[in-house]
Amino acid sequence: MNIHEYQAKRLLQEYGVPVPRGYAATNSREVETAISHLGDDMIVVKAQIHAGGRGKGTFIDGYKGGVKVVQNRQEAQDAANHMLDNTLVTAQTGPEGRKVQTLYFTEACDIKHEYYLAVVLDRETAQTMVIASTEGGMDIEAVAEKTPEKLIRVPVSPTMGLRHYHCRRVAFALGFEGEQVKQFARILTGLYKMYWEKNAMLVEINPLVETTGGQLMALDAKVSFDSNAIFQHPEIQQLRDLNEEDPKEIEASKHSLAYIALDGNIACMVNGAGLAMATMDIIQSFGGSPANFLDVGGGANEDQVTAAFKIILSDKNVKGILVNIFGGIMKCDVIARGIVAAAKNVDITVPLVVRLEGTNVEAGKTILRESGVALTPADSLVEAAKMIVDQVEKAG
Ligand code: ADP
Ligand code: MG
Repeated sequence: MNIHEYQAKRLLQEYGVPVPRGYAATNSREVETAISHLGDDMIVVKAQIHAGGRGKGTFIDGYKGGVKVVQNRQEAQDAANHMLDNTLVTAQTGPEGRKVQTLYFTEACDIKHEYYLAVVLDRETAQTMVIASTEGGMDIEAVAEKTPEKLIRVPVSPTMGLRHYHCRRVAFALGFEGEQVKQFARILTGLYKMYWEKNAMLVEINPLVETTGGQLMALDAKVSFDSNAIFQHPEIQQLRDLNEEDPKEIEASKHSLAYIALDGNIACMVNGAGLAMATMDIIQSFGGSPANFLDVGGGANEDQVTAAFKIILSDKNVKGILVNIFGGIMKCDVIARGIVAAAKNVDITVPLVVRLEGTNVEAGKTILRESGVALTPADSLVEAAKMIVDQVEKAG
């Protein structure tokens, strides 16, 4: 689960990380109030969307920049008028962009230098990784790609936690000295503590700036939480912004389905995350392109299968469906009955291939064959994948 910059900054502040003063607003009245809290000099107006690259983004009507540094309150008001309810396209939003429904007004900083600092779960080493760079700011992706040696990586063992020597190592690598080493250590300690206590997977500050006055401050923040641990943190759950999530994924979570939309055209309905991944791979290896990841779980019932079909079909790109179910805990005849009932319940207008395997598979296949539902049963995963890719190609 992701949160907005302004929410992330509030959390960071609770953990002792300095951030500029700021106020969020979602409508014109709140915009006025927010601006009135700030002085009548340089103000930064920031579009709040769950995507980065805002500074270099462009609104669909041509208005440039999702992060605007303006000279006074009037200009802040003008920028807000352009940005609120407008759609911002950045390198991370895709061409359709994101509607900006919240703005953040914050004090402008005199920046001497922009750094990058993040604490992230590193799956490869199964450790926490502190990543830092002297080349922070809006081009960090290019730095990571072209000059990866400019990223400092310091692993932190989860059993031992962050120690002062980690902080010093990163601080020295960034070139800090004296008082700034202390400031930096306080910031990294706060970042790590927040990462750990809130079950985050990423806490990123980009840029972390040194002001002309020598103070270190977080000017932007991004936090991702582990969704599987979110039940332990009602205070974080409250920060969820459904406007920023795919409606299909929201619907799926209501039915305990693990669904992730992708941009292909062959929808998959599978039980088990591993089998779902294998199904996506095999579709791809036969030249098709998966429209989603969908794990209906080990004990999926008819209601869930129906909901899954509805969610799949609400994606206009879907030109075919591959159902791949292994009857392990559930029996294939029970699953087949569920699929047939769901298929009758939902108007399926695209080719449907169903592959069942496992307990009572013959009984299951008989039910599918005799159902009268327009579907193609398949015996193996390879055959199923070939069939659906073929049928979609022919139909298109
Ligand atoms: P994004 O990463 O989505 O582009 P940022 O919040 O990082 O958005 O802002 C982009 C750039 O705008 C920053 O790298 C920084 O140079 C500048 N900026 C952001 N906030 C402030 C601020 N409060 N004062 C001065 N400059 C800022
Ligand atoms: Mg940024």
